[in-house]
Amino acid sequence: MTLVGIGTDLLVSSAIDEPIEDGVLIVDDGRIVWSGPLSELPGFPCVWSSWHPPVLAPALIDAHTHLSIETPGREFEQLEAPDAVIATRAARFASEIVRSGVGGVRLLGEPGDLSTQFADAAEHDPHGWPSIVSCGRGIRPSHAIVSVADIVVDTEDDARRGVELVASSGADWLKLHATPSSLRGDPIEPLFSASLLRLLIELGHDAKMRIAVHCHGGPAADICIDAGVDTIEHGRFLSDEQLKRMADSGTTLVSTVGIGAIARHRQSGEPLLALLSELAEPVRRAKRAGVQVIPGSDAIHGRFSLELHALELAGFTPKEVFTQSTRVAADICGFASLGSLEIGKVARAVGLRSNPLDDVSVWDRVVGLVGPGGLLIPHSDAVAMA
Ligand SMILES: [Zn+2]
Repeated sequence: MTLVGIGTDLLVSSAIDEPIEDGVLIVDDGRIVWSGPLSELPGFPCVWSSWHPPVLAPALIDAHTHLSIETPGREFEQLEAPDAVIATRAARFASEIVRSGVGGVRLLGEPGDLSTQFADAAEHDPHGWPSIVSCGRGIRPSHAIVSVADIVVDTEDDARRGVELVASSGADWLKLHATPSSLRGDPIEPLFSASLLRLLIELGHDAKMRIAVHCHGGPAADICIDAGVDTIEHGRFLSDEQLKRMADSGTTLVSTVGIGAIARHRQSGEPLLALLSELAEPVRRAKRAGVQVIPGSDAIHGRFSLELHALELAGFTPKEVFTQSTRVAADICGFASLGSLEIGKVARAVGLRSNPLDDVSVWDRVVGLVGPGGLLIPHSDAVAMA
């Protein structure tokens, strides 16, 4: 393979290292083989890219999404479409996700075998799809109305069978639905009995899966925190006391603010930023309590920067937003090869207009991308690699 060199005015290689002026990234077969200042570059026989972005930064991680649907929208109707239609839409969503600067997604529930099939598609087309970790199929009780979870668990026997089914599919995560959607009924009403929820968490951890729980708050959140789940999704009605215990026990909150803001914006026409700020209140309280927070789009495709703005409105500095959505999110979701532009990582770099450590809005429009094959995937202008 030919080594490809990409120069940049400012290389922001990770959330920890100081940005490097006149930086260089050398990519070989989708991997970063060197990154650092041009002045220290060893004599690599590389082909230089004609593209020289103002800033190169690692791609973002979306910690909560689905590819079989888009939100806000009629999820059940979307899933009634023929498989080919769902797959075609998913490929379009994948492309929108990548072009918005996201290089890795954690899929938190797709019906049937779709999650495995999306992961296969991503492996076949690493330029057009983000890297994927997934929970396979989600788990819910029969009375819960959830579009993206189709393993039904009402008894202890169901729980054993359900967790076994997810584990045998090779899933990295187990996804449980512990409270209803915030749009349906009481959002903190527990969906499972306390003992069944505890059993599911125990079985999931015994099967070496990490556990993500859709949970807005209430008694189910107490069980999740006590039993040591890895991430709580949404968490809109978590109490300050619960947030404090999450901070103490290292339970991560995956914030999904944009979905509610866009839905209300479409209905009422209220300004999106004002809505993001209002709906970011639980995240603001989580930040104050010291909870680890990482952002998830929950299937708003191609507009991940909304979640970054929500974090900033919740009190995170631009540097903290960058840290939580790259290195920390990669670590928690399980992307060992993403989250920074260090040597040995997968080459997923994003070209930006200016320094993301100073300004979150640079993510609103990325100027170009380096994909894992060393190719540039331009955002707008067609730029061919060397
Ligand atoms: Zn979701």
